[in-house]
Amino acid sequence: MYKAKAYSAESATSPLGPATIPRRDPAENDVQIEILFCGICHSDLHQVRNEWSGVMPTVYPCVPGHEIVGRVTRVGSAVRKFKPGDLAGVGCMVDSDRTCPECQAGLEQFCPNFTLTYNFPDKHLGGVTYGGYSEGIVVDQKFVLHVPANLNLAGAAPLLCAGITTYSPMRHWGVGKGKKVGVVGLGGLGHMAVKFAHALGAEVAVFTTSPKKKDDALRLGADEVILSKNADEMQKHERSFDFILDAVSADHDISAYINLLRRDGNIVMVGAPEKPLAISVFGLLMARRSLSGSPIGGIAETQEMLDFCGKHNITSDVEVIPIQKVNEAYLRLLKADVKYRFSIDMASLKSE
Ligand code: NAP
Ligand code: ZN
Repeated sequence: MYKAKAYSAESATSPLGPATIPRRDPAENDVQIEILFCGICHSDLHQVRNEWSGVMPTVYPCVPGHEIVGRVTRVGSAVRKFKPGDLAGVGCMVDSDRTCPECQAGLEQFCPNFTLTYNFPDKHLGGVTYGGYSEGIVVDQKFVLHVPANLNLAGAAPLLCAGITTYSPMRHWGVGKGKKVGVVGLGGLGHMAVKFAHALGAEVAVFTTSPKKKDDALRLGADEVILSKNADEMQKHERSFDFILDAVSADHDISAYINLLRRDGNIVMVGAPEKPLAISVFGLLMARRSLSGSPIGGIAETQEMLDFCGKHNITSDVEVIPIQKVNEAYLRLLKADVKYRFSIDMASLKSE
């Protein structure tokens, strides 16, 4: 075991601040990574503030961060996938049971015994896992991804959660040429969804509450931008969408979007608001529409997504910040004031 610098929260109401955390010495299948960049996901904020207390209560101190990109510094004797000096990525999971039907199918995100990157029981050191707001991490090679060398690293980090969480449902539900796709909420996840839907050849519309984001949405690949507070604009799109991805972090009216789906259309929730959402079931049953959800993605699909991004030169649009600005960044996330992901330059942790 060794000590690593990190940023942690001590309670649901305290700001994040410097801390020292334990990391395990790499065992035979482990990869030790020096973290270069870590994205700030809105899930980090939900978790730090214990907003998901009913499903995943937060254990303090909490070190969030599951959009990790770094460089391999050491590998265990059985590691063949990586060598020191390689680029490496780590997303939301660091382990699973590898034997259940979900793992056998390469869908580790549904494994009942997976280990999330932070705030999950740590099988090696006891306590809970600590995430990427840290100078380093040690992860089993199976859960470490290859990051294409042509990608900007600060912009690649958010692919490990925002990227896979939007890519996976689009692949699952067949987004592509000839499909009309809606993206609700132009934040970290939403802007990646726009890039993927566009790259996959779909017609893309963005629904936003922020008129200021209109030009950006078009630049990111949207064909159309709809201000969701404008009822007339919304009504014009009734019964026209094949697929809508909802990436909103707070309470909002999803029935308004259900009504925009065509017959047999599907709205997938990737956003995870604190409180249950109200649904008008008539919107669902009148046109046999579906409401679904999707969490992150499996390891093989995450690698597929990263390779897709390498090929199409897709990264997240990031505002790079030092770790010392993390609390300010959280406040800005709550105001939907992010373009379009904060990426922490972990070199800033050296001065702590
Ligand atoms: P984010 O960057 O903060 O973006 C959220 C966006 O939602 C905002 O930019 C805003 O877009 C819109 N929004 C915020 N408050 C709103 C409100 N009251 N009404 C309507 N729209 C509102 O968050 P993120 O990191 O993309 O994460 C989004 C959600 O996905 C979070 O709940 C997060 O926990 C969840 N998540 C889920 C998974 C998964 O596996 N399913 C993975 C990662 C994250 P506009 O300004 O365009 O309206
Ligand atoms: Zn996330």
